[in-house]
Amino acid sequence: MLKCRLILFLILLLSPLTVNTLSAQCPGDDGFPYWIWSPVDVADYTSFSFAASYNAVSGWNSIQGNIAHTVFGPFDDITMFDDNSLPGGVAGRTTRFSQAGKGTCRYMLDTCGHCMSAQVTYDAYVRLNANLIRQAAAIYGLDSNLIASTVMAHEIGHAMGLSHIGSDLDSCDSVLSVMHVSVNRLIECSVFNPQIPCDSNGVYALYPFRVGDYCPCAGVSCL
Ligand SMILES: [Zn+2]
Repeated sequence: MLKCRLILFLILLLSPLTVNTLSAQCPGDDGFPYWIWSPVDVADYTSFSFAASYNAVSGWNSIQGNIAHTVFGPFDDITMFDDNSLPGGVAGRTTRFSQAGKGTCRYMLDTCGHCMSAQVTYDAYVRLNANLIRQAAAIYGLDSNLIASTVMAHEIGHAMGLSHIGSDLDSCDSVLSVMHVSVNRLIECSVFNPQIPCDSNGVYALYPFRVGDYCPCAGVSCL
């Protein structure tokens, strides 16, 4: 009987700890704005191989089904380019813009009935520190396009609205998401793509329903 109680106690003690550790290592929600149309078109103007952005996009498409990305679309929703002036140690940075801040459709309805407000994404810029990425590739003896693809996948996650997770001190068994804050840990733990279940669940939390096709601006005010 005593033995049974001891085992139960350990299970009770360990269960919440395990759950908390896992949830703490999965990305959360960075808040508005969100995309309301898909596929989200990623335009790659970086110095890296086209395969890098194609792989990043494919990675997100393969782990979830509610928001699609493409590198073949006409919209340049996410524009990616080199920026070697990013602060030291920063491999990439994403800036999101809402419909309220940009575009001729702001505070108009689209033909599907969505209001083009601050809650709706207009576009995003992704800047990559190409010099830093190439330095990291040389240090780790890996293809710079693989590192670039990993950073691109991470930044596309930010463009969707996913937040950072983790710290430089995490062991590999707790590096469970491409949204991990440390690109060094991503490389060292061979996390080069979005992961199931952390990243897929993160997307499903932000986009619980399939993001539908583009709807043109109706020109009707929704202020
Ligand atoms: Zn980040």
